[in-house]
Order: sequence, then structure tokens, then C-alpha cells
Amino acid sequence: PTPLLRVDGLSVSFRTPRGTVRAVDGLGFTVERGRTLALVGESGSGKSATSLAVLGLHEDAEVTGSVRLDGRELTGLRPAELSALRGRRMAMVFQDPLSGLHPYYTVGEQIAEAYRRHFGAGRAAARRRAVEMLGEVGIPEPARRAGEYPHQFSGGMRQRVMIAIALACEPDLLIADEPTTALDVTVQAQVLELLARIQEERGLGVLLITHDLGVVARVAHEVLVMYGGRAAEQAPVDALFAAPAHPYTRGLLDSLPRLDDPDDAPLRTIPGSPPSLLARAGGCAFLARCPRAADAEEADRQRCAGERPRPAAPPRAVPADGTSHQVACHLPLPAAGPGDAAAAGLS
Ligand code: SF4
Ligand code: MG
Repeated sequence: PTPLLRVDGLSVSFRTPRGTVRAVDGLGFTVERGRTLALVGESGSGKSATSLAVLGLHEDAEVTGSVRLDGRELTGLRPAELSALRGRRMAMVFQDPLSGLHPYYTVGEQIAEAYRRHFGAGRAAARRRAVEMLGEVGIPEPARRAGEYPHQFSGGMRQRVMIAIALACEPDLLIADEPTTALDVTVQAQVLELLARIQEERGLGVLLITHDLGVVARVAHEVLVMYGGRAAEQAPVDALFAAPAHPYTRGLLDSLPRLDDPDDAPLRTIPGSPPSLLARAGGCAFLARCPRAADAEEADRQRCAGERPRPAAPPRAVPADGTSHQVACHLPLPAAGPGDAAAAGLS
């Protein structure tokens, strides 16, 4: 069957005074209906540039490659066509709900307006639908709160309102870019739970952009780890957490706090900074920070420096359901022992 979203060979470049920056460099992935794919990486890894490219929202960038929604090519569509699709088939939820809400209209009016725009419903029907939507995203006393303004809502409740607006047009694909990053931990968990529930009930495909592997563990089915605008590793979430094959993924997992050891420092990070995206040589983008290359034989290190690693199956047993695991590394890590998921504090 045709995947809901299929991205192939996607590149996004910006011209800057210092030269051309390639924020996304030959990326490919699919999002199936009823599944959540998490794009994970540090800031500057190209994950937000990817989501904007899928939505057709880049203005000053050169975007090449293919983005197909339900088999239909989106690159090269006219702005009006894209904007219609964005309303009707793809919806988005961003980190800062206030930036997406109008301060002078009640939240009920804003949801009703989104609904009217997409379904041409009458005012009364749209207002009823707005109250229903507020209930569906877990806002108590929805009939009363529909008449309130965004500033009367807490951050978590505002994000629920944004989700209600996104869902009002009944999209097939939801793109959520750091949807809970601005929220405190308890509220974050509640909003993630809501997203997961809605995703399942509606059979939505979700593209979730996050830097937080804890968020990934809660809601994603598949994970694509990005580094320097490229895919480092892609796998079903369990396989990735149990046996990461890319040294960068391993580093990200090692930097998670260990739940089985409360004294463990929660904020270990991977040494070094993200790569410059300006004119890059042919080797692996992670080389300067890679502990595995640092320990490798000279010949292997030469290969890391000179040849871009392409995604391939790592040395792993293929799971019974045939789901695929891909890693872009010349020296992928061996499969870990059975204790590893527990050691990462995630099982
Ligand atoms: Fe490290 Fe080499 Fe693998 Fe890149 S290709 S992640 S430098 S071992
Ligand atoms: Mg971002």
C-alpha cells in the first residue's frame, strides 16, 4: 500500500553570507497511517527544516527531492494548492502555542473558524463542533472555556487548544514540532498521552520532531535519528533503544538519566559541538565527535574521513515482523546483550 507520507532524497539548502548551508542532505523516510515517526536530533540537525519542507513552508530555501502525500507529489505545487492541503490533509502543532493563537479571539471562535474554513459549516454547527473538540482534547467545562481567550489558559491547556485546532480539519497527517518542550514535566506527560490517544483513535500518521528521547520512548513507533542534516539511524523504537547501531545514537541514549540509578548525573552530554553545515567534505558528519572512530584502526578512520556512510542494515538479527533497521556508519556497533535496554533505564 502507498505510505501516507513518503520523503525521498530530500535536501534543503540556504544561502548565507558565509556560503551555502545544507540543512537537510539527502533524507528519506516514510510515515504510515496510524504510526508515529519521531525525527530526533540536536538543534541544527535538520529536523525542523525537514518538517517545514514537508509542509512546503520554506521561503528562502532551495528544496529538492520528493515529498509525496498519499502518492501525490507536493514539491512544485503552487502555494495555494499547498495551503489547501496544509489545512485539510496535514496539520501542525508547534512548540509555542501562543504564537499560533490569536490573542483577541476566544479559543472557541478560533477552533470554529478552522472548522468552517475546511468544511464550510454554518456558524452554529461550527461552534458546537468547537466545544466538542475542546472536550475531546481533555479541557474541562468545554462549553464555558470555549468563550475564554488564550491568555486565560495555562501552557498545557493552550497546547491542547492548538491540538484541537489542528484536528478540527480532520487531517491524515499531524506534524508536531517539539510540542511539549515548553511545558513542565507533568504537563508534558499529559499532552503526550493526549497525542498518543488521538493518534490511535483517529489512525493519524504523526511526524514528531523532538530532541528528547524520553518523549520518543513514550509515543513513537519508529525513530529516525538525524545528525548534520542526514539520517544516522532509523529503526522501530524498541530496536533502537535496545541495540543502537550508530555511535551517535549510543551517545544520545547514554546521555539519558538512568532511572535505576537516581544518583546518576542526568545531564551527561556528547562531547563536541554539532557539525558546521557549510561546504562539507565527503566523510561522516559525526567524525569529529565519534568515540568509535577515535578508537579505530587508521584504515577505518580514513574511510570515516573520506567516504560518506550510506544507510544499510546493521549486524543484527532481523526481527520476526521483518521491520527494518538502517544505520549510516562504516563501523556500526555490534548488537548489545539482553541487559542493555534495562541499563538505559527504559524497560
Ligand atoms: Fe563514527 Fe565512522 Fe561511524 Fe561516522 S562512520 S559514526 S565517524 S564510526
Ligand atoms: Mg526546532
